[in-house]
Amino acid sequence: MSKILQSIRGMPDILPPEAEAWETIENLIACRLQQYGYKPIRMPIVEPTPLFKRAIGEVTDIVEKEMYSFTDSLNGEQLTLRPEGTAGCARAVIQHGLANQTTQRLYYMGPMFRHERPQKGRYRQFHQIGVEAFGMKGPIVDAEQILMIARLWDDIGLPGIRLQLNSLGEAEERVRHRADLITWLEKFQDILDEDAKRRLYTNPLRILDTKNPALQEMCAGAPRLLDYLGEASRAHFEGVQQILRDVGIPFEINPRLVRGLDYYNRTVFEWVTDRLGAQGTICAGGRYDSLVEQLGGKPTPACGFAMGVERLLGLIEANGGLPPDAPDIYLVHQGEAARRLAVQTAERLRDAYKTVLLHDGGGSFKSQMKKADASGAEFAVIIGDDEAATGDVQLKHLRDEAFGQQRIKAEAIDDIISNYLTEKFDLNTERKN
Ligand code: ATP
Ligand code: MG
Repeated sequence: MSKILQSIRGMPDILPPEAEAWETIENLIACRLQQYGYKPIRMPIVEPTPLFKRAIGEVTDIVEKEMYSFTDSLNGEQLTLRPEGTAGCARAVIQHGLANQTTQRLYYMGPMFRHERPQKGRYRQFHQIGVEAFGMKGPIVDAEQILMIARLWDDIGLPGIRLQLNSLGEAEERVRHRADLITWLEKFQDILDEDAKRRLYTNPLRILDTKNPALQEMCAGAPRLLDYLGEASRAHFEGVQQILRDVGIPFEINPRLVRGLDYYNRTVFEWVTDRLGAQGTICAGGRYDSLVEQLGGKPTPACGFAMGVERLLGLIEANGGLPPDAPDIYLVHQGEAARRLAVQTAERLRDAYKTVLLHDGGGSFKSQMKKADASGAEFAVIIGDDEAATGDVQLKHLRDEAFGQQRIKAEAIDDIISNYLTEKFDLNTERKN
C-alpha cells in the first residue's frame, strides 16, 4: 500500500464542526463591516515578489525570512504567496484606479502564508480578515475602524481584549528619532541579538518590535518616538484619542508599539489578549499614507487593519464558544385578529433590522411563552384579540424584570425597544469607563 499523504506542516485542514464556526464569524463580521460602508474585494493569492519587498520593506521579518517565494517555471517570473493583504489590495486599487477622486472602503477574507515556526496561534497558512480605507486623511477613519472592531468584540461577546495605541509620526520625525535611537542602542551592543545587530543601522525601529524578552526589557528605556512628533502628527493622534474617549472605548498608549511592517505612519494599533499566551495579538493595523505612492500610485492617504481568524476563534473557544444565536424578539399570538396584527408587527420590526421569530402552530399563551423563553429572545411580544381590537401589543422583557410587561401601541414598538437598548448601552459604557 502506498503511504498516505499528509497536509503540509503549519497548514491545517479546517474540518466541518470548526468550519461552521468560521462561517458564522465571517458572516457576522461582514455584516458589521458593510454597516460602516465597507465593500468586499478579492485579490489573487499569488503576487509578484517585488510587490511585497516594496510594500512591506526589505528589512522586516516577513520579507527576510517568512515569504513563500518561487520562480514561475514557465516564464521565470518571481512570485510569492501573499503573506498579508494590504500590499495586494493597494496594488489592485492603483491598477484599477479605484481611489481616483473618490474614497474606498474595502475588506477581504482569506488565507495568508508565512514560513514561521508553527505553534498554537501561529501557522504557515493562516487567515486574515483585512480592512482598508483609501482617500481619507483625517483621524475619523482611524478611530472609526477602531470603533468598528470594538463593536465586533461586543457582538461576539469577547471581554478583555485591550486596545494599544501609538503614533509613528511622519518620515521626517522618524529620521530624528532614528538617529537618537541608534546612538542609544549602540550602548547595548553586547545585549543585541543577531537580528538586532543586523537592523541597527538599516531598520533600528524594528528592534523595538523584537520578540526576544531580554531585548524587550532593554527597549523599555529607548527614546520614545512619541516625543519626536511634530504638531500635525500630534494633532492627528489627539484627534483619534478624542473620538475614542467620546464613544467610551478604553485604550492604552504603548510607545514601543511599532508593528512589523514598514508601511505604517501616524496611528498604529493592536488589540491584545492575555488569554492566548505569546500569540496574543488578535488584530493589528494603522495608517499607511505613503504606501500607494510608494507602489507607483497617486498620493492617497490610507488606513487599515487585519484580524487573525485562527487567534480570534482560539479566543472564542477559550471563552466558552459563540453566544447562542438568539432572536431579538419572539412574537406570540392567539385569535384571528391577533394573528393579522402579529404578522404586520413582525414585518415592522424586521424593517427596523430586528431578528423576529413569529410563532406558528397555535397552543395556549402559556405554551407559546415557554417557546419564547427557550428561543433565548430578549423580548416577547404578546397579542390577543383584546389587544388587536385597539391596535395594541403587550411587550414583555424576558430577562429584565425592571422592564416587566407593558401594553403599548403596535406602531410604537420599535421606538420603545430601541430606547430601551440605547439606555442599556449607555449604562454599559458608563460602567466600562
Ligand atoms: P506577530 O507579531 O504575532 O508575528 P504580526 O505583527 O506579524 O504578528 P500582522 O502582520 O500585523 O502580524 O498580521 C495581523 C494579524 O494576523 C496578527 O495580529 C495575527 O492575529 C495574525 N497573524 C499574523 N501572523 C500569523 C500566523 N503566522 N498565524 C496566525 N495568525 C497570524
Ligand atoms: Mg509576525
